[in-house]
Amino acid sequence: MSGSSSLAQARALDAEDELADYRGRFLPSGDEELTAYLDGNSLGRPPRATLDRITEFVRQEWGSRLIRGWSEGWLDLPERVGDRLGEVAVGAAAGQVVIGDSTTVCLYKLIRAAASARPERREIVTDDGNFPTDRYVVEGIAEELGMVVRWLETDPLTGVTARQVSDALGPETAVVTLSHIDYRSAAIVDMGEITRVTHAAGALIVWDLCHSVGCLPVELDELGADFAVGCTYKYLNAGPGAPAFMYARSDHHGLRQPVQGWLGRHDPFEMGPGYEPAAGIRRFVSGTPPILGLLGVSEGVELVAEAGIDRIRSKAVALTELAVTLTDEWLTPHGLRLASPRDPALRGAHITVTRPDAARLVDRIIAAGVLVDHRSPDGIRLGLSPLTTGFEELWRAMDTIRQLAAEPL
Ligand SMILES: *Cc1c(COP(=O)(O)O)cnc(C)c1O
Repeated sequence: MSGSSSLAQARALDAEDELADYRGRFLPSGDEELTAYLDGNSLGRPPRATLDRITEFVRQEWGSRLIRGWSEGWLDLPERVGDRLGEVAVGAAAGQVVIGDSTTVCLYKLIRAAASARPERREIVTDDGNFPTDRYVVEGIAEELGMVVRWLETDPLTGVTARQVSDALGPETAVVTLSHIDYRSAAIVDMGEITRVTHAAGALIVWDLCHSVGCLPVELDELGADFAVGCTYKYLNAGPGAPAFMYARSDHHGLRQPVQGWLGRHDPFEMGPGYEPAAGIRRFVSGTPPILGLLGVSEGVELVAEAGIDRIRSKAVALTELAVTLTDEWLTPHGLRLASPRDPALRGAHITVTRPDAARLVDRIIAAGVLVDHRSPDGIRLGLSPLTTGFEELWRAMDTIRQLAAEPL
């Protein structure tokens, strides 16, 4: 074995890796059978700091301050952590990001807010390959508001193109909502150009950053994006079900969001009659902030800040390059096809390979100690999380997949 596919080469990549030490900042799985974790893009691993922070919080703050904690800093945690996430990971100036509810609920709130800015227009544009929850939320909103969904038919290998969006836009388009990175292929779409053509048609855009936040730089302010949401439990390692973030550009803070709750009111503890929204991004908050989840978000964001988003992006490219090389050399001869972009500039931090019997193959791969995802109908998704995935770990995973792919199923 020679070139980039040898174990020695994978070890050399680990030795050169400037982020290698970050792997030790996460809890080991303790599972002897597990040889590789390639699902960090679905559920990031737990940072050690999060365990310490939550343990200490439960004892010291929750345990001892009790209800006084709300007025001693818990209540404004959604904005404080949001500001930091905005600065570190999505290029947002302070006051425009808040940590909210699940991604699904955040999307609902922002798409509704965007639609309310264009009440005379009747169409929402999205793509048929968008993540399921995004499609369902759009369908529900269209039904509620008597709007029409204009579906773009996309090739997952390229993702939505600016040309497709521009062809679909018209005087009836109120809102465009798309994912920055395709959850199947990891294709990166041209956020800048799509935002520009959307605005040229007088519509607003809501970006879903679930597969980009924490794994590559995003510049929301610079692009002039209107709204964005993103998960925190993927590349931000905030923990299962940790709350998502919402970005609303400051000039959209006068819009109404549909889940008016007391904690988005300007003075919740007045308990007064009628909803009077808080100023600024706070109005996008609905109910009591999920403090334990927020602590996870905070620790995850600090790890990204320390490692640096540019170094994280470089490592993601190096990891996916190795995965593509090994796919070509080892897996393609066994009928697995690369279903992700070959150009690393157009690819996020995972790759997908396909074979018709992927579901059964994935069961075997997982049983052999390599955690990957099956993506219906025929995809095997390999998530390469720059802070936690090692090159040798990836090499061993690919070696396991190669052996299993060679066997009759
Ligand atoms: C993971 C993911 C979600 C998840 O939504 P939840 O409400 O957190 O379950 C939504 N959209 C995209 C694009 C995702 O990748």
